[in-house]
Amino acid sequence: MRRFIVPLAALVAASSLGAQSPAALTPHQQLARAVYQQLVEINTVDSVGSVTNAARAMAARFRAAGFPAKDVQILVPPGKPTKGNLIVRYHGRGSAGGASAKKPLLLLAHLDVVAAKRADWPRDPFVMREENGYFLGRGVADDKAMASIFVANLLTMKREGFVPDRDIILALTADEEGGDANGVEWLVTTHKPLIDAAYALNEGGGGSLDGDRPLLNSIQAAEKVPVNFSLTTTNPGGHSSVPRPDNAIYELAAGLTKLAQFQFPVALNEVTRPFFERTASVEPRAEMAAAMRALSANPNDSSAAATLSKDPRYASMLRTSCVATRLSGGHAYNALPQTASANVNCRIVPTSSAEEVMATLARVVADTGIKIGYTVPNTEKFGAAPSPIEPELLAATTALTKQMWGDIPVIPTMSTGATDGRFLRAAGIPTYGVSGIFSSPGETNAHGRDEKLRVKSYYEGLAFLDALVRQLARAHGDVTS
Ligand SMILES: [Zn+2]
Repeated sequence: MRRFIVPLAALVAASSLGAQSPAALTPHQQLARAVYQQLVEINTVDSVGSVTNAARAMAARFRAAGFPAKDVQILVPPGKPTKGNLIVRYHGRGSAGGASAKKPLLLLAHLDVVAAKRADWPRDPFVMREENGYFLGRGVADDKAMASIFVANLLTMKREGFVPDRDIILALTADEEGGDANGVEWLVTTHKPLIDAAYALNEGGGGSLDGDRPLLNSIQAAEKVPVNFSLTTTNPGGHSSVPRPDNAIYELAAGLTKLAQFQFPVALNEVTRPFFERTASVEPRAEMAAAMRALSANPNDSSAAATLSKDPRYASMLRTSCVATRLSGGHAYNALPQTASANVNCRIVPTSSAEEVMATLARVVADTGIKIGYTVPNTEKFGAAPSPIEPELLAATTALTKQMWGDIPVIPTMSTGATDGRFLRAAGIPTYGVSGIFSSPGETNAHGRDEKLRVKSYYEGLAFLDALVRQLARAHGDVTS
């Protein structure tokens, strides 16, 4: 049962027709689809592609739509010609400043994508296809859907003469997926005034489907922070025909075995506690739902935590996790190993820190012969508390969700994976993953082969974000200095 009101009705109805001949699309949908296809077909993989090329293609569209050149900037980090970031400023009424000016709204999407080998895919991953109700191609889900939606929505707002109350800033950035020139990290360090905002909308949220049925819409308001630790043992070694009890590989293995049996304590925060409380209403497994209710009522309920921990996704939301991901050791088949080392990938709750986790690792392996360090110098920032849910954002998302998908909950979440939101939060810009793009768990296969997104979900996300951004840009929030 779905209820739509105008103008969403027109936008969404056209996307529900099934077969998507271009003629069935509204002009706004056609524009979005064209931008989407253009972005997917520009290879933006680190080292082989160019984010700058994608930024230039989008900049050309904004200039052609009448945005002044000074409001359409491509910022290229020194020495990284393929890692250009596009910043577009859409001026609102309060742009001139003054006491009544509201801080801008920032729309963030990354342009880079994870590598995709032609040989691994049935067709060229850099040619966008539409088949059986899905868009297919590298980046169709992560993150070129949101990037194209933001572009198409701003271009349409401009064409219609929409004037927001606050500036809207669009940032399309490089190296979210890795690489050596993360655009958001660089921009907050070197060009913060250009992207400074009351808060940002980003990837990381979205709707969940159970089959074809919308289950919930999520707002990502926190994320775990990734840090890699190295655990290393050393030994004088010797001839393998004369083994001794001391052995670099066995010593490391013993430490890793202790780590495998260790679980970090439950650490709920202001996002995950209500997450479990609200998710209980849509969790189909009764035992899990009961554990969610029990734990959100009492975070010290260890039997509820144990029940939830049976599901790896929930286990990871409850606490910091550390897991061995790489291993190396020894230098010859016939020599006692002189060294052994493992990489331990930790996903740290935002209220903890890398130092705290390092101290815990040392306590768990309980062997001073195992040296613990950072695999690469740790630059992650902690202490960025989960973004408190912006009331105007929650209200607008809840109303639009009801309008478009019926009576389903809107649930704040913490990502166990990382996005660029952590750099913005650490720089004092609250960041929310919200998209209105629905998928079933694992369906998009982001980062994998045949990455895909439902055609219907794409056009729904287009309509949702269009309505949401217009509302937030008009919102009568408090003046922030
Ligand atoms: Zn992404």
